[in-house]
Amino acid sequence: MSTVRTVLGDVDPARLGVCDSHDHLFLASPRLPGQELDDPVAAEAELRAFAAAGGRALVQWTPYGMGRGGARLAGLSRATGVHLVAATGLHQDVHYDPAVLRGLSGAGVLARLFIEELTTGLREEGGGQAGEPAGVRAGLIKVAGGFHGLDGHARDVMVAAAEAHHATGAPIAVHHELGTGAPDVLDLLCGTLGVPAERVLLGHLNRFPDLRLHRQVAESGAFLALDGPSRAHHATDHHLFDTLAALVEAGHAGRLLLGGDTTTRAARGAPGLPFLVGGLAARITREFGAELTERLLVANPARAFAADWA
Ligand SMILES: [Zn+2]
Repeated sequence: MSTVRTVLGDVDPARLGVCDSHDHLFLASPRLPGQELDDPVAAEAELRAFAAAGGRALVQWTPYGMGRGGARLAGLSRATGVHLVAATGLHQDVHYDPAVLRGLSGAGVLARLFIEELTTGLREEGGGQAGEPAGVRAGLIKVAGGFHGLDGHARDVMVAAAEAHHATGAPIAVHHELGTGAPDVLDLLCGTLGVPAERVLLGHLNRFPDLRLHRQVAESGAFLALDGPSRAHHATDHHLFDTLAALVEAGHAGRLLLGGDTTTRAARGAPGLPFLVGGLAARITREFGAELTERLLVANPARAFAADWA
């Protein structure tokens, strides 16, 4: 049976409910100094507001080594009743201390890490997050492309992600740098490495609002995770409705996901997580009808994140 692998265990996708398909409660990177999302009190307040607005599930795309807060996610899910999905995988190399990446080099090391985190539990990352409880498992694999292409690190991570997908069934979620490079990602993951396109979730495409390209990659069968609104993505928020209109018109309503993608401390709070499932959802309903809102926030995430876990 297909299930969504949350931090508290496997959940029937029919019970996932209204879902923020791409967001971050915890995230830290040397590229974002002073903007760490590392405050569990703030995260709980956001999550409670999200639940009060009707949110029932949130998928965190923070990969290994970036302060995911596995133990904290489990505690927050228990405290708020919101289903939380954690990620394994790796971001671009610039988000890591080179020593961390050296420790993960070598044949098969990355794939073993991803598989372990999907099937056994998240590994401790250090950095004050001691006590990751055994059994808090990842439910997706995060990878990252580069600007209009893939460097060696991105390719190595994607090869390992594909191996972990084939071993476990886990979906693969992709960061696209400034929204670019999706055709290269699909060529590698699906063309070369044999990952079914419907198991690939393409993120950040709103940052590169080329509607012809969006239609082209949607035709592959992959999911398109449109992110924003959050203060971090304000510059692209105004493309969202035209993007939705173009992709729905082209017959891809079943391939679309929505997420807030709160990536920085400055982006947290007003309007915050509740806006996605509140004001924005209401406006989608007004523009396109309630059926599309239900697909974007409930039916599509239930398919995108469910897997026949091996
Ligand atoms: Zn993100």
